Amino acid sequence: MKYDLAVQNALILSSSDMTQATLAVKDGVVAAILSPDCCVDADETIDATACWLLPGLVDMHVHIRESLPGGSERIQAETRAAAAGGVTTVVVMPDSRPPVADAASLKERAELFREHSVVDFALTGGAGGESLRQIVDMADAGAVGFFGCLGAYRDSGSGLHCASTADIFQVMERTAQLGRFIGFHCEDPDIVSLFRSRAHEAELTGSSAHGQGRPEFAEVLSALTLLETAEVTGARLHLMHLSSPRAISMADLWREEGAPITVETAPHYLALAEEDAEDLSVPARTAPPLRTEESRGDLIELLQVGSIDVVASDHIPGSAGDDLGLPGLETALPVILDAAIAGELTAQEVVLLMSENPARVSGLYPGKGTLQPGADADFIIVDPSETTRVAPQDMYTEDPGGAEIYHGLELNGRIEHVFGRGQPLSRRGEVISDPGRARWMWLSDEG
Ligand SMILES: [Zn+2]
Repeated sequence: MKYDLAVQNALILSSSDMTQATLAVKDGVVAAILSPDCCVDADETIDATACWLLPGLVDMHVHIRESLPGGSERIQAETRAAAAGGVTTVVVMPDSRPPVADAASLKERAELFREHSVVDFALTGGAGGESLRQIVDMADAGAVGFFGCLGAYRDSGSGLHCASTADIFQVMERTAQLGRFIGFHCEDPDIVSLFRSRAHEAELTGSSAHGQGRPEFAEVLSALTLLETAEVTGARLHLMHLSSPRAISMADLWREEGAPITVETAPHYLALAEEDAEDLSVPARTAPPLRTEESRGDLIELLQVGSIDVVASDHIPGSAGDDLGLPGLETALPVILDAAIAGELTAQEVVLLMSENPARVSGLYPGKGTLQPGADADFIIVDPSETTRVAPQDMYTEDPGGAEIYHGLELNGRIEHVFGRGQPLSRRGEVISDPGRARWMWLSDEG
């Protein structure tokens, strides 16, 4: 058989394995994984000797926050950031401006992404307030999952926040019937509000004000409410960007009883601790905030024993000023690869946490998140012997200010090539694909 593309001599990684082999691509999908000494006939070949070949990342926690209608430039910039960082599928949070709160806004957003995104995408719907009665319609229109806040971000628009535990219960009841995941930001808004005003009264500033305004027990309290409500309703709860080892260990208790709960953390909680904050050139305005070095170590241990399912960027562009969050699409994989090369996790775990599991939770597996034959040929070639220096000024994201927390870091490993459905998306961080060929991903039949 003649293939379109063959990547030879790479170490091909899956969540359970690494094999020296040749990846053969035809019509945008993985056609075969061939023995390295097999003769292969292809229009184009890439020699990937001494490199790792991973499935493209499925980042299931991406905020783009473009305005609807309009917002095309923001979508282009942020999905270029994805292509540069090895993220070949973005699962987009519903907080466009205004948010995705019904089927019509979901479809409108999909059209905008189809035209302007550089990478494949899946969309989620808002779950709370005005969108409660729209959940079934949004699922029918193509929402792969839902996202709710606990009132902490009332300024981010209606249709995203659950103002009470009764709201949380009703949202979970509905998403349970549909079998789609329901993601929640885990911080008790009342506790955050109290502690933030105390930090303000104590005239704390910068990172210490931010950290003390969002104590760990606020995360644990909201996780408790969400876990028990998921247990009662049968919802597929996805706890987003947990930073608290205590909250993660607690989730294990419900999982041991069989509740279909998944746990996510973000690269910054694995790479940085609050003790590092004083040395950072900008405050790390993440919510939840960075925790202690001891917590960071506990988080790595929980990851190693399988208590964390997903590592996602929680990418938020435009994090200047008081806005919370960091742009993470261009740093997530480099930061985690560095940890893998340092031995904090295995290369197979990188695939499990950043490609395979997020594809499964989002219902996109096995079309996405794996390199088994028949899957989309989304892949990343990494040279583990090279290094990457983080340079926010060179990033594609519209406002890379928040990425200054990694400024100048010399990370082990370098992304050499990123391919989406067999087509080159980026080369050493430079995007070489234009918008217009992105595919809107719905649930996979087998997923
Ligand atoms: Zn988020």
